Amino acid sequence: MSQLPLAPGETIGILGGGQLGRMLAAAANELGFDVVILDPEPDAPAGRVAAHTIVADYDDPQGLQALAAMADVVTFEFENVPATAVAQLAGMGVEVAPGPLALRVAQDRFEEKTFLNAHGAPTVAFAPADTPEEAAAAVERLGAPALMKTRREGYDGKGQRWVEHAHAAAAAFAALGGAPVILEAAAEFVRELSVIAARGRDGAIAVYPLAENHHESGILRRSIAPAQASPALAEQAERIAARILGGLEYVGVIGVELFEMADGRLLVNEIAPRVHNTGHWTQDGCEVDQFEQHVRAIAGWPLGPTHAIARVEMLNLLGEEAGDWARYAAEPETRLHLYGKREAKPGRKMGHVNRVKGL
Ligand code: AMP
Repeated sequence: MSQLPLAPGETIGILGGGQLGRMLAAAANELGFDVVILDPEPDAPAGRVAAHTIVADYDDPQGLQALAAMADVVTFEFENVPATAVAQLAGMGVEVAPGPLALRVAQDRFEEKTFLNAHGAPTVAFAPADTPEEAAAAVERLGAPALMKTRREGYDGKGQRWVEHAHAAAAAFAALGGAPVILEAAAEFVRELSVIAARGRDGAIAVYPLAENHHESGILRRSIAPAQASPALAEQAERIAARILGGLEYVGVIGVELFEMADGRLLVNEIAPRVHNTGHWTQDGCEVDQFEQHVRAIAGWPLGPTHAIARVEMLNLLGEEAGDWARYAAEPETRLHLYGKREAKPGRKMGHVNRVKGL
């Protein structure tokens, strides 16, 4: 780890070369940093905007050694970075930010919800299950329907199933592969919201306005931000974000997915220890967006302002939809952000647009 704050000209390492890494790299470049990406795939989207790319598996000792030799601090764009990679980098004297605690908590849904509740961030009721029998007992206790999710490695709605009766729990457990799961009580939410927040090296916290999110087939389709929200709701979200960031002694940007309940309470669905798709609106709705904010935080710079300067509707471009770029480019209120992915597979995030409106 170099001395903080990192000076322009120093190098930021990023584990993962997808679109989040690409937008982080662009923000780091803007502040005068060099970027080195480590990704198993050659031609990763972030590699094409970074000064250096290392093509290696995330836990490949030689790849990590090369990363450690170049980077003054390392961050990541996805939460399933192997814990061993972070430990290896630490052993080579390079700090990874956010740190190992945030990764451990975010990689396991049971650890995550347990941590959240212990730090005053409410969630739905939940129970872990390692066997079909435990799963059935958990559904009995929580009430049906309950949502079964694998403890590890689920994303975009993958690795989860609704269980309508306790006697259907064993089949769901088998269908999810027989790995440890958690059962969650059904949240009867009125809206899905999220809050993007950051914590600096000095413990300062900055919270962006709430976003309202709409999913299709488990994938984020649209965010509207700032969401219509009473001051009390916004304060509740800020309080929750601050508790999580403080509890994790976090450095960087975090995404916190929330359920708004009919009685006005916010429950945390999950946390993402990284920049987040529901924060893309900040690119055109705020003076300092989530990507620059993350770079500032890990580099030990002061955090930037987080208030909205415009209202934004963010629309993900999935698969072939990115082929409509010319139409979006012709709309004066629309900012187009494309990820440079070579192949459009169904459901693949190829880009997004921010439709910018007055406040
Ligand atoms: P997740 O993979 O945990 O982000 O969940 C994906 C989506 O499933 C969420 O955005 C919600 O729409 C829905 N969901 C997750 N957990 C629950 C729950 N406990 N009750 C109701 N819906 C849920």
